[in-house]
Amino acid sequence: MIDASTLAAWLADYAMTLQDNAGVLTELDRQIGDADHGSNMTRGAAAVTALDPAGFADGSSYLKKVGMTLVSTVGGAAGPLYGTFFLRMAAELGPDGEATTTQLGTALRAGLDGVVARGKASEGDKTLVDALTQALTAYDDAAAAGAGITQALQVAAEAAALGRDATVDMVARKGRASYLGERSKGVADPGAASMTMLFESAARTLS
Ligand code: ADP
Ligand code: MG
Repeated sequence: MIDASTLAAWLADYAMTLQDNAGVLTELDRQIGDADHGSNMTRGAAAVTALDPAGFADGSSYLKKVGMTLVSTVGGAAGPLYGTFFLRMAAELGPDGEATTTQLGTALRAGLDGVVARGKASEGDKTLVDALTQALTAYDDAAAAGAGITQALQVAAEAAALGRDATVDMVARKGRASYLGERSKGVADPGAASMTMLFESAARTLS
């Protein structure tokens, strides 16, 4: 059941994970950006954690508020992109109820489509899209093979990590890191790292 409190458990786990890994994310962003990805993400997650899921009629309206909160509290590129991800997911999820593996996958993919529409990044541009695309391909394959939500999310999280690791050798073509050109090689994209954590949290909390 993907209701507001289930989604809030996901985002609470994510907030804790970001808190624990803020230094890692900031260090990646220090190397190829402006050293604020850890603080951007933890600030947004703290604002999201402050939302009371009991105050929302359903999972969709809660996620919509999550998206709006991220857009308004997270500065930089990541805020609008993560915000759009949750807003599009919310629109696709619809009201409460039993979400099948396929329905959750459709909502996650709507999130990816929103991120791409907003940021115009393709796979290989060294952004969070690289982790997200790999995650959803793996998720869909698992769903098609009959996996449940937890199992599909576990597979997706592993694929996201591979997508993140693949960004190490890429030259950034979007965002701040793209200003470095060839010098952006050799370090993982911070957004791909935080996106991988989002799927790891999902695998731990959604079923
Ligand atoms: P800023 O770059 O404004 O300092 P953050 O450091 O919080 O914002 O986020 C940087 C991350 O945002 C990058 O690592 C990358 O994954 C992601 N990003 C930046 N621009 C884009 C884009 N156009 N499309 C997708 N992701 C992007
Ligand atoms: Mg930054």
